[in-house]
Amino acid sequence: MKLHLIGTGSIFTDRMSACALIDDTLLIDTPNGSVKAMRRGGTDLTAIDICLITHFHADHFFDIIFLLMEQGLLRRRDRELVLVGPTGLQERIQHLFQLSYPGTWKTVKPNVRPHFVEFGHGGGQWQGPGRGHDYLVQAFAVQHTTPIALGYAITDAQSTTLGYTGDTVYCPAAESLTATSAVVVLDTSFRTSRVGHMGLDDVEALSRRWPDRTFIPTHLGDDVTGSDRPNIVFPDDGQTFTLNMSGLTDRPGQGDQ
Ligand SMILES: [Zn+2]
Ligand SMILES: [Zn+2]
Repeated sequence: MKLHLIGTGSIFTDRMSACALIDDTLLIDTPNGSVKAMRRGGTDLTAIDICLITHFHADHFFDIIFLLMEQGLLRRRDRELVLVGPTGLQERIQHLFQLSYPGTWKTVKPNVRPHFVEFGHGGGQWQGPGRGHDYLVQAFAVQHTTPIALGYAITDAQSTTLGYTGDTVYCPAAESLTATSAVVVLDTSFRTSRVGHMGLDDVEALSRRWPDRTFIPTHLGDDVTGSDRPNIVFPDDGQTFTLNMSGLTDRPGQGDQ
C-alpha cells in the first residue's frame, strides 16, 4: 500500500491542510488547497475513485467542490465515484454547490456518477474497488467538535491496514483504529491535548501501549516538531510511505519526498 500525505498541517500553519492519498486512488479528506496541491504534485485526479471524508470542517471538506468539478465539469467519469462520510454528506455537497456555484451540481452530478455511503455514530463498513485495487473501509465514530466525525481503517487485498483518525480527542475509537492497523495516522494538533484534538502526549502514550505499531502524526501545529519515540515517524507535506501488513517497509528520513 502506498500512502501519500498531500498535507500534514492544522489550519494556522504553512503546512498544507491534512489529507492523504492511498495507492493514487483512495483519497482521505478534501481540505482547502488540496486539489491545487495534488495538481502541483502531478497527481492524476481522474484516478481517484474513492473519497473518504472524516467530518465537515472546511479544513477537511471544502475542496470537495473542486474535486467534483475536476471529475464532472472538466471531465466525465466512466465509472462511479464512491463518496464515504458522515450522515448528511450528500446534502452538504448539494448545499456547498448552492453557495459557491449555484445550479452547477445538476450538471456535475451525472458526470461524476456519485455513490454515497454515509455513516452515523455506529460507524460501519464498505467494501469495493478503487482503480485496480479492492478495499475494505471500516468507519469508526471518533470524538471531535462536530456532531459526527469518523476515523477510518483501510484494508487492501494483501491484508495491509492503515488507520487514519481525522480530527479527534483521545477516545476508544483511537484505540480501536490502532488495534486494527499496522500504521496509524493521527491527529496531533498540539503538544498536549486540547478541545477537539489529540496532543503529542496522547500519541506518545498510544505508541508506548502499542510498540509494534507505527504512528504518523498529522494535522500538525507549528510547535509539534518531533518525538523521541522510535515508532513515531514525523512526516512532511508530499511525503510518500510504503507499507505492508507488518508496518512501514521503508523508513524515509525527514524531508524525503
Ligand atoms: Zn475539525
Ligand atoms: Zn481540522
